[in-house]
Amino acid sequence: MKLNKYFVPTLKEVPADATVTSHILMLRTGMIRMLSAGIYSFLPLGYRVVRKISQVIREEMDAIGGQEFHLPALNPKEIWDETGRVEAFGDILFHIKNREYVLAPTHEEIIAFHAKNVVKSYKDMPQIWYQIQTKFRNEPRPRSGVIRGRQFLMKDAYTLDVSYEALDASYKLHDTAYRKIFNRCGLNYFVVGASSGAMGGTGSEEFMVKSDAGEDTVAHCSKCGYAANVEVAASKINVLEREKTNKELHEIYTPNIKTIDELCEFLKIDESVCAKSRVYIHDGKAVLILMQGNDEVNESKLTKLLGGNVRPGHPEELMKITGADAGSIGPVGFNGRIIADQKLKNRNNLCSGANKNDYHFGGIDLDRDVKKIEYSDLRIVQSGEGCPNCDNNLEVFTAIELGHIFKLGTKYSEALKAFYIDENGNENPIVMGSYGIGVERIMACYIEQNHDEKGITWNKILAPFVIHLIALNMKNEAVVASAEKIYSEMKANGYEVLFDDRDAAAGFKFNDADLIGLPLQVIVGEKKLKENKVEVKVRKSNERFDVELNDLKNKLKELIQNLS
Ligand code: ATP
Ligand code: MG
Repeated sequence: MKLNKYFVPTLKEVPADATVTSHILMLRTGMIRMLSAGIYSFLPLGYRVVRKISQVIREEMDAIGGQEFHLPALNPKEIWDETGRVEAFGDILFHIKNREYVLAPTHEEIIAFHAKNVVKSYKDMPQIWYQIQTKFRNEPRPRSGVIRGRQFLMKDAYTLDVSYEALDASYKLHDTAYRKIFNRCGLNYFVVGASSGAMGGTGSEEFMVKSDAGEDTVAHCSKCGYAANVEVAASKINVLEREKTNKELHEIYTPNIKTIDELCEFLKIDESVCAKSRVYIHDGKAVLILMQGNDEVNESKLTKLLGGNVRPGHPEELMKITGADAGSIGPVGFNGRIIADQKLKNRNNLCSGANKNDYHFGGIDLDRDVKKIEYSDLRIVQSGEGCPNCDNNLEVFTAIELGHIFKLGTKYSEALKAFYIDENGNENPIVMGSYGIGVERIMACYIEQNHDEKGITWNKILAPFVIHLIALNMKNEAVVASAEKIYSEMKANGYEVLFDDRDAAAGFKFNDADLIGLPLQVIVGEKKLKENKVEVKVRKSNERFDVELNDLKNKLKELIQNLS
């Protein structure tokens, strides 16, 4: 492709509305332009990358027996009513106002609809159906460029099976295919089991990459691969032993002392001997949560443990419930359910609120002084704490979800009456799986992980072209003739070449080449040409060397083979 006629509107300046690196670089390289919040146009250079990613996905999906569909984005609303998902998606779902249509945010319903009409016998399964297609979601906060769009390209796949055992096999195939896809794309990713790695046997896994632009917070162990959303993540905890001599329970006057830090300072004690109290209201009843020192309550873990409706107690309720305001509340004499974090299990000689303003108790023995107490893991995991599965430490960071594989079961087949007849002539619902990948997210995440101060550094799999051919001076006939000849030969050899044949300054061309970031640059200039040489630069490593013109073909072959 010749740049002179190719529409690649690169930008020198950083666009004001972009803060995330991948967003900035996709705009600056002229790969995308925004149409409206969360809605992007892909320009020719960017669309080539989308097609490369789609190709990798297609090859790996076809390799596990996937069959490619193309389902309509415009869906009759009534199908979505049958599964209750018009309500479940709420404002995320785009509605077509003058007709009863919705724009599909995903396609489980449509797959179940078609399965109902054609997959009638156990002999018709297993099936793997997939597509690469535009999805519509009215995301409330579209940002970070194409990472969270209102219209985006998703590879979605669905499996149809006769049983949960058969679904396990289909799921495993996708797990393997997904790893191959992300590896081939050159992404550094990790896998999060939805119900926390420690529990094993999950029904869903998320493929994530670490990124400041991410909206999920995860705990990850780089040694053993343990990864979990902080909502469920566990860490190796250090439970302190009971002290040998048991102190008496005693009341301490602590005027205006409200926080654990103030208490430690006032009494000259360590926070590990303090039990902090938090009051929650669970289905209308007060529950006291005790945490060691400054540990925070993980409300996701608490909600999961209690079930039903859980909310923090309001400041004005606390006096009525406990007899004290926040800062003076504690387990001794508390009237209601008490749950302590496992770090406090059976501990003694603790200090906590006395349920009387300006007073604390010292010498609390949870076994002796509290009538009934339960223990559970209620902490929010912090960076630097021990991995629950190995001897390494956890790192907590934000991450982006690239893909998701999920054992759906029979929810959609039952709602849409997609039944099949088994070997014994009985009717059963089809057992489904669902598997998604965000195509543009792969592109953005690749850029997040592969760039330097000058621009993107593409690998040869995703690069929109592999070679950036630069003619340094388009006014020099020898340079033009030589560059044109190299261009034709490279194309004849099957290489994808972007030829900068613009009449522009060398510095401008170099900057654009580094910004766009194709893996190899071939630079044709007057000086080197006189020695029958051109310069070759490897973008990622910045290595440069001169190559004899008649050796260029072999050298490029060798370099491309060695590219990642
Ligand atoms: P998120 O938690 O980031 O909103 P999700 O759980 O809603 O993702 P799924 O419904 O599982 O995502 O969709 C499958 C894949 O589609 C995701 O893993 C992601 O890569 C991609 N995806 C989802 N929403 C968007 C979006 N708004 N813009 C771009 N890609 C998206
Ligand atoms: Mg979402």
